[in-house]
Amino acid sequence: MIKTNATAAVISKNSRTQLVADRETLMRIFIRPESDASRQTLVKYMDQILFGLHEFLTRHVGVTQEISLKELSTRFTDTVISQHPEKKLADVITDLIENIAPHAVNVASPYFVGHMTSALPFFMVHLKTIVAALNQNVIKLETSKVVSVIEKQVLAKIHRMIFQKDDAFYLEHVQNPHTTLGCFVEDGTLANTSALWVARNSLLAPKDGFHGVEAEGTAAAFRAYGIKRLVVLVSRLGHYSLRKACGVLGIGNQNLIPIDVDANNRMDLSHLRENIDKLQADRRKTRILAVIGIAGTTETGSVDPLHPIADICHEYGIHFHVDAAWGGPVLMSEKYRHLLSGIQQADSVTIDGHKQFYMPMTCGMVYFNSPNLPDAIEYNAGYVIRQGSVDLGRKSLSGSREANSLILDSTLKIMGTRGYGLLIEHGIDTAHEFAEEIKQRSLFELMTSPELNILTYRINPPCIRQQMAHASDSATVILNEQLNTITRKVQQLQREAGKSFVSRTTLRNNGDDGSERVVFRCVIMNPLTTISILREILDEQEDIYNRIDSYPEPS
Ligand SMILES: *Cc1c(COP(=O)(O)O)cnc(C)c1O
Repeated sequence: MIKTNATAAVISKNSRTQLVADRETLMRIFIRPESDASRQTLVKYMDQILFGLHEFLTRHVGVTQEISLKELSTRFTDTVISQHPEKKLADVITDLIENIAPHAVNVASPYFVGHMTSALPFFMVHLKTIVAALNQNVIKLETSKVVSVIEKQVLAKIHRMIFQKDDAFYLEHVQNPHTTLGCFVEDGTLANTSALWVARNSLLAPKDGFHGVEAEGTAAAFRAYGIKRLVVLVSRLGHYSLRKACGVLGIGNQNLIPIDVDANNRMDLSHLRENIDKLQADRRKTRILAVIGIAGTTETGSVDPLHPIADICHEYGIHFHVDAAWGGPVLMSEKYRHLLSGIQQADSVTIDGHKQFYMPMTCGMVYFNSPNLPDAIEYNAGYVIRQGSVDLGRKSLSGSREANSLILDSTLKIMGTRGYGLLIEHGIDTAHEFAEEIKQRSLFELMTSPELNILTYRINPPCIRQQMAHASDSATVILNEQLNTITRKVQQLQREAGKSFVSRTTLRNNGDDGSERVVFRCVIMNPLTTISILREILDEQEDIYNRIDSYPEPS
């Protein structure tokens, strides 16, 4: 039965059912389903969720202007919490499915190829439900018991996938309460922050009457170590979460130093070395806290040369962090794991579960090569996380948190590395195929070839392309502005049409002029996104381009 918001209100008014919050109904929501009737009610609601959302998940992507955000926002201006209950559970679920979901974004659509969020294996909903039903708090043993032990095991599995230590190492650490192979946090942002937090506290550790940066703060630490500033080096394609981390940790986000990239958007090693030498010689007494290599940049999916960066870090004794928030799971593909070679030399690694592990929002993880490294961030408290306990909250940026490890551990069992490998390979193989298709179409220009499953391209019509070939520098700048306007406009119109979604970003030209190029950014992670769907997306873009008869002058 389909009821809109308005009719539901009318019905409840007519039947004069006044919902009340009283002790009896309150007890009902906490009591376990003992009777057959209440059991059936529970099943009915679950059914409503699983199949009611089905229609939504099979529609087009829905980034439409059908109802503008502005109009939607006018519907949500109620700022008073009602004293009495407004709706029954069944009505709330119906409302979410029928009135809210259609205006959300269908990230599960195979035509949604713009972001790092995609369809989930269907069983993720079941696993997430179990996590909610058990409601364990992994901060401490007393609220999680076996779940803490499972968490240590799954952390060891992923650690092994990254660092490839021997059996003896994992036997020693898998359930060792004194060591930490990694931890779960909310997201990649906090994973990167954790890694830099550990690096900072290790560098500015307690010594000769100084109690360490964690206790005394950066000003005292700088005095104790005779330095004036800390810096972190990352390619200029580094994720902005690193700037946040530097801000939060008192390093200062201006001290996140961008290193140039080469023609393939990978960190330029000679520029890295140049910077390290310059900074080491700095009379202002700069200390390099960490160098960060990226295994799958957010914008282009490129992977920095991890081996050589690791060697340089080793030579200078610098903490080497790898931001593999996106690319980490590529290690499960036999065909493509070599792309991340060198990652095992990192001191710390970030991986996001909600990206290429296909877990529901959100799950970040950080791993440490040396399981004693996280001692630098240990906290204890009397009533919780006691010293020497297995409490996982002792060395973690997060406080209370859900048992994401149950989802990851179960999924690894369901999928195996081979299952994940197939997903990864589909994405990368399809991205290569798509790149070839783009090259064959005269309207488009491939801007960055896919190394992983991300590529960028733009519209560059033959007429402009020919002009560009012979244009002066200043004319090139103007033509480039025209191309930016075209790509921006087509991306916007395609998004508003709501059939498919490709995202947009701005890349800086590697050449001398440093001009900015607006590009389409395509992320292929949905196994249902095939080359023929991608061709349709290009057809639609061509169509949109041809239908626009004039473009505004470049600003
Ligand atoms: C997504 C991403 C992050 C940030 O992760 P969140 O989970 O969004 O906080 C960091 N680095 C890279 C390379 C990413 O792709």
